[in-house]
Amino acid sequence: MFPTSQTDAPQTKPILVDRFGRHVTYLRISVTDRCDLRCVYCMAEKMQFVSHSQLLTLEEMVRIGQAFVDLGVTKIRISGGEPLVRRNILYLFRTLGVTPGLNDFTLTTNATQLPKFANDLKKAGVTRINISLDTLRQDRFRNITRNGDINNTLQGIEAAVATGFERLKINAVILKNHNHDEILDLVEYAVAHQIDISFIEEMPLGAISEHNRAETYFSSDQTFSVIRKHYELLPSMETTGGPSRYFRIPDLKTRIGFISPHSHNFCDSCNRVRLTAEGRLLLCLGQEHSVDLRQVVRSYPDDDEILRQTIIDSMAIKPKGHEFDLSKDPVITRHMNHTGG
Ligand code: SAM
Ligand code: SF4
Repeated sequence: MFPTSQTDAPQTKPILVDRFGRHVTYLRISVTDRCDLRCVYCMAEKMQFVSHSQLLTLEEMVRIGQAFVDLGVTKIRISGGEPLVRRNILYLFRTLGVTPGLNDFTLTTNATQLPKFANDLKKAGVTRINISLDTLRQDRFRNITRNGDINNTLQGIEAAVATGFERLKINAVILKNHNHDEILDLVEYAVAHQIDISFIEEMPLGAISEHNRAETYFSSDQTFSVIRKHYELLPSMETTGGPSRYFRIPDLKTRIGFISPHSHNFCDSCNRVRLTAEGRLLLCLGQEHSVDLRQVVRSYPDDDEILRQTIIDSMAIKPKGHEFDLSKDPVITRHMNHTGG
């Protein structure tokens, strides 16, 4: 018998440990593959979205999330697609957010819906939010998101800042000749708003048409060099439980992070798994090893023991790491909006 979230029993020894001795403490849940934007690095122009009947219900997501917490997961991030476009999404935040043992409840969003949701998210226990923003220019934003309006995202960021979350962070995917000349502008924006910023190397997930990923590759080291010409960057041992390597700028609140799947592979310390909106438990972002948890929750609606045992057993197929190669067509045909970035 496993401890349940109701009993909130202390964890003595890690339960979710894979073949390489890595301890899984972090679950990311993609609550929908749909989105109000169409970022060129994330989605193809014409996407086939999962039909509503194939999606996990919000109740099923809560049940799976709680099973993970019972097994020692302390951090859950809600992602997508755009999580805040899923109907009745506050139910999930309010229900999962109060799970005993869940210490860190976070969200990744494009911010367009934050003016509407920021206050309720904070009340539901969301402590930190990551917000995607790759450019500060209206025309570029429209191109990168295939017709989004930057004002919606900027207003969302203002709403989040005014609400007063523990931490806010900008995520910026840097593409050579698309936005690499805005690195400093983005840092200045983060500094002015006293929020963190992470720069991300694009990952080859799913086929896209607008650019050649090998040609637009801009490494974290290149981004670092651009910033270091203008700011002193002090390495920081701080971690938010994710793959970002952080640096501090003296006397400023803003931390600068780098997520570098190509140049500084972080698989050795991987502590996470991902649940897709249709209930597939992905053991690695860059591999297809997975377990169908929708089938388990639907076949055994009253038996969490089987659900927990399936999750424990899944650790046996967690791969060593991704094998991203920008010089070849993407091996992983699944786009990031399905994956839950
Ligand atoms: N819609 C929300 C958002 O944009 O923040 C959440 C989902 S989005 C898939 C999560 C993160 O993945 C975003 O920061 C986005 O920039 C990033 N992302 C999407 N496709 C990517 C790719 N191919 N390589 C690297 N990061 C990617
Ligand atoms: Fe939507 Fe986020 Fe993907 Fe952009 S990165 S298309 S906002 S899911």
